Amino acid sequence: MQRLTLLGSTGSIGESTLDVIRLHPGHYQVFALTAHTRLDRLMQQAREFKPQYLVVADKADYRQACELASQYQVSSEVLAGAEALAFVSEHQQTDSVMAAIVGAAGLLPTMAAARAGKKVLLANKEALVMSGQLFMDEVSKGKAQLLPIDSEHNAIFQCLPTDYVYGDPQAKGIARILLTGSGGPFLHTDNSKLDTVTPAQACAHPNWSMGQKISVDSATMMNKGLEFIEACWLFGLKPEQIEVVLHPQSVIHSMVQYNDGSVLAQLGHPDMRTPIAHALAYPERIASGVAPLDFARMADFSFRAPDFDKYPNLALAIESCAAGQYATTALNAANEIAVKAFLDGELPFTGIAEVNRSVLDRLKPCELNSIDDIIGFDNEVRVLASEWIGQMSQRALG
Ligand code: NAD
Ligand code: MG
Repeated sequence: MQRLTLLGSTGSIGESTLDVIRLHPGHYQVFALTAHTRLDRLMQQAREFKPQYLVVADKADYRQACELASQYQVSSEVLAGAEALAFVSEHQQTDSVMAAIVGAAGLLPTMAAARAGKKVLLANKEALVMSGQLFMDEVSKGKAQLLPIDSEHNAIFQCLPTDYVYGDPQAKGIARILLTGSGGPFLHTDNSKLDTVTPAQACAHPNWSMGQKISVDSATMMNKGLEFIEACWLFGLKPEQIEVVLHPQSVIHSMVQYNDGSVLAQLGHPDMRTPIAHALAYPERIASGVAPLDFARMADFSFRAPDFDKYPNLALAIESCAAGQYATTALNAANEIAVKAFLDGELPFTGIAEVNRSVLDRLKPCELNSIDDIIGFDNEVRVLASEWIGQMSQRALG
């Protein structure tokens, strides 16, 4: 029986994780569920999975959560706040932690799980992008097992040799990693029309159903940029060892190219239950509820290089990856602010990359040697990005 803390249980990854667990009664026990919004849904989940703890991220929601728990006849203990998220991540009665909070808010509880030596199922790529080496150090000091949930990284993990040497792909004859991306909903949209696309259009991904933030990131391809940085940290790669390839069908989830010309790929329907089931059961294999691929009915596969004029955020992320930790932390923070402004109707779609670029241009390289440094810098960049957005709206009005 594997005991699991599910950070961000009401989100897209959270729900898919519970879908997989539901298929395997007796194998997984939910120790804690956490959420920030959709507290009604959290209570429904709690009624079904009977966790020991329920955590709401915001302390201001504590009373409401307690009232809802009694209304739904849920007997789990209700906790609230950032310390409570860390508490259920590092608790000795949990074996695994699914890190599925979106954005920087996931950093501290995910870090706590790594430090406590848990099996960490990492969906929250932003945590790794903002803290890179510090996060990987906690994983090795805590002897945690880090398993990628992001479908591309899960695919790469499956295609690497089992005795892969971290940071030394050449030792196993690996030439490069081919990180695939669909190109998002605007792959065929003329670049000149991008400044007028709406949040609803940006969130309508052709292949994947996901939360809003990652959907917008997929439309700008910042998601692929964050994944590029994520891959560098997860597998110890240099930027030049990764190539981004557009594959609009989203059936090949990524590939590993070897020196002898062989390319190993992992394929599947674009459904996160596959990587979730893979990581939950690793090194075993369990059913995920995803239908098998039917090759005879499959559309043709196509591939192309990304157009960096259409996706300036992808170029920015690759540049930041080479520039170092301060740049990727800054990019992630600026992007979270810019995406929110776009979703709130305060910034055009093309403004997201503009904000990210101007924030990065205005920063000087600096050392970030602790989590406090990271969080302090992340906050500074958020202020800078918000100011820039304010100035952009003033200019637009004037
Ligand atoms: P989502 O928006 O659907 O869900 C996010 C979850 O986090 C919710 O439970 C929400 O209540 C919680 N949350 C939001 N803000 C919070 C805060 N401030 N404090 C604590 N909890 C908070 O997001 P999602 O699509 O499930 O994505 C989750 C993470 O997984 C992201 O980092 C995303 O990049 C990554 N990911 C998602 C997918 C996907 O298919 N959805 C694929 C790969 C990676
Ligand atoms: Mg992905």
